[in-house]
Amino acid sequence: MQKTAKEFKAWEREKRLIPKMIKMYCRGKHGCRGEVCAECRKLTDYALFRLEKCPFKKNKQFCSFCKVHCYKPDMRERIKEVMKYSGPRMILSHPLFAFKHVFQMIAYKRKLKKEAGKKQC
Ligand code: SF4
Ligand SMILES: [Zn+2]
Repeated sequence: MQKTAKEFKAWEREKRLIPKMIKMYCRGKHGCRGEVCAECRKLTDYALFRLEKCPFKKNKQFCSFCKVHCYKPDMRERIKEVMKYSGPRMILSHPLFAFKHVFQMIAYKRKLKKEAGKKQC
């Protein structure tokens, strides 16, 4: 029972932090205090919906490193903007989450490089 909870910890954390990141973005970019604007609300709902349907919930990696990427192209662009803005700001409020993202990014880039190397042979 506890093992299962651990396997879904990253997924649960993302469900908590994505709305916070969008809120941070909305406050900084759209000047909204308290509630987020309608566009950011839509993005939050969409991101949470995608997370709920995600086939990689177990030991989940960040969406940025997903090969499937289930987001619609416009939503993907918007969430990328949010990550670009809020990601570095998360270092202060959620350092573990932010550093985990950096480590996963390094591992992901290494993996891509390795795969590209194999294809050339
Ligand atoms: S982008 Fe990938 S990891 Fe993220 S919710 Fe969609 S399927 Fe899951
Ligand atoms: Zn907004």
